[in-house]
Formats: sequence, C-alpha cells, structure tokens
Amino acid sequence: MSSSDQLQRVIFEHADIRSVLAGLEQSYQQAIAKHHYPKLINVLLGEMMAAVSLLSATLKFDGRLLLQAQSSNQVKMMMAECNHQRDLRAIARFDGELPEQAEFCELLKGGQLVITIEPDQGQRYQGVVPLEGSHLSECLEAYFRLSEQLPTQIHLVADEHRAAGFLLQVMPASGDPTADWEHFSSLSATLTDTELLELDNATILHRLFHEEDGRLYEADKLQFKCDCSRERTSDALRAMSREELEQIAREDGSVDVSCQFCNELYQFDLADIAMMFSDSAKVEGSDQLH
Ligand SMILES: [Zn+2]
Repeated sequence: MSSSDQLQRVIFEHADIRSVLAGLEQSYQQAIAKHHYPKLINVLLGEMMAAVSLLSATLKFDGRLLLQAQSSNQVKMMMAECNHQRDLRAIARFDGELPEQAEFCELLKGGQLVITIEPDQGQRYQGVVPLEGSHLSECLEAYFRLSEQLPTQIHLVADEHRAAGFLLQVMPASGDPTADWEHFSSLSATLTDTELLELDNATILHRLFHEEDGRLYEADKLQFKCDCSRERTSDALRAMSREELEQIAREDGSVDVSCQFCNELYQFDLADIAMMFSDSAKVEGSDQLH
C-alpha cells in the first residue's frame, strides 16, 4: 500500500508545487477498533483521517488540525484530528440503520463541515468547508481554492483495512504557477484508488512524476494516540456545578467519564470533587482509577 502509517512530503526541484502522501493502516484500525461502527462510517472516517494527516503536513507550527462534520440527518457528527506529532484520532455519531454506501456530501446534506486549526501558541482558526460535489476530497479542494486561493488536488480512499491520501498543491506565495500546475495536476489526475491504496510512496511518485525530479522527504510516522488525560477531564467537569457533581458522586459512588475517542475511564469521587474546587483547582495525582 501507500507506505503504511507514514506521512511523507514530496518536493519538486524545478516547480513551485508540493505533494504529500499519507498511508494509514494500524493507526486507522486502532482508531476505529473500539467503536464498532458500520462499514460506511469506518470508510468515511478513514478518508477523514487521511485528509487531516495530509493537511497537518502543510502546517508550519506545533498544534492540531481538526475536521468536523455535523448534520441533523442520520449522521450527526464525524470528526478526525491530527497533531504535529502525527497522533490521530477520530469519532462518529449517528442514528439508526445506515445505507451500505452513500456519498459524504449526501449524508451531510444541509449540514456543515468545519476545519479547525489550533496552534499550541496563538490564535485558533476556523474555516467552513463548502459541501461541494459528492466526495470529501472535492469539498477540501473547493476550500483551498476559495479560502486560500491555492490550486489543490486531493485524492482520498479507504476500505475497511487501510486508508490513504494524496495531496498536490501550488506552494503558497509562488509566482505564476499556472503552467506547472496544469502539467503536474494532469499527471496526478491519473492516480487510481487501487494505486493509492496498494503502491508504496516511491512507486507512486515514480509512476506519476518520473520526469519531474520529485524527492521524498523523510517520512513521519502516523499513529493512533488520544491525548485525553485526568487533568483535562477534570477541567471539563468544572463546567458543571460542584453541587451537581457531588450529587452524582453520592448516588453512583463516583462521577464516571469515559473518553469518547479511546474509551479510557476517568472516575472522580467526593474527595476528588472537593479537590477540583479547592484553591489549586486541579486534581492531583496520577491517571490511576480509584
Ligand atoms: Zn482518550
């Protein structure tokens, strides 16, 4: 396949064009394993994970990038996230029986797709991605064309085992890229789903651009990793009142919160809640369960 669990950038010596390849296998499997979603959701989440991986490679700073889809149809929410360490996670919510197959935009009709960029330092950015065409890749191409004025070609594919993505884009702030863009994008338009899923990156690069002096950067490893923690969960709980939390803890023995991404369980008893609202306003100690 496109090299497994790797994110790899490509630079072309003689053109202001960049390319990125993403291949997900274990990272994808682990992200969806705990959820038991139907095939349609798995495949769409696989494509979203491939997309956030590709887009994370275009960021110049530490932070995370999220792609979140919402609608009032059967599929309520789908989201995928990747940070600069290439940690990936994804989740979906939906109602009832889903069709075997459906297009991304059809499922989200009337809904919204939002891209969020959260730098570790500095301002959070949110952009609305137009639900254009039928496939997620078309929406993202439209986003780059309209919001960033960057001609972009995106190819995403997933089956139940693997997901892969390819991005071709004019380098920001390059001169007049029209001729290069037309040449490169017509070459990469020939890439098929099967090639993207099954060939390794060097072979894909050679097959598409063997005369264009493309060089692969060293690959980054992609992995499923959730950054939830006891401290973050505690911070989130403090949005509720102390009385509410204490009432739950008295009735149930503890306030139980499990992470929606990885199923990790965090439990807070009365003593923890007291600590949560004490001066330090933080729960001390480790992530161990009580
Ligand atoms: Zn988690």
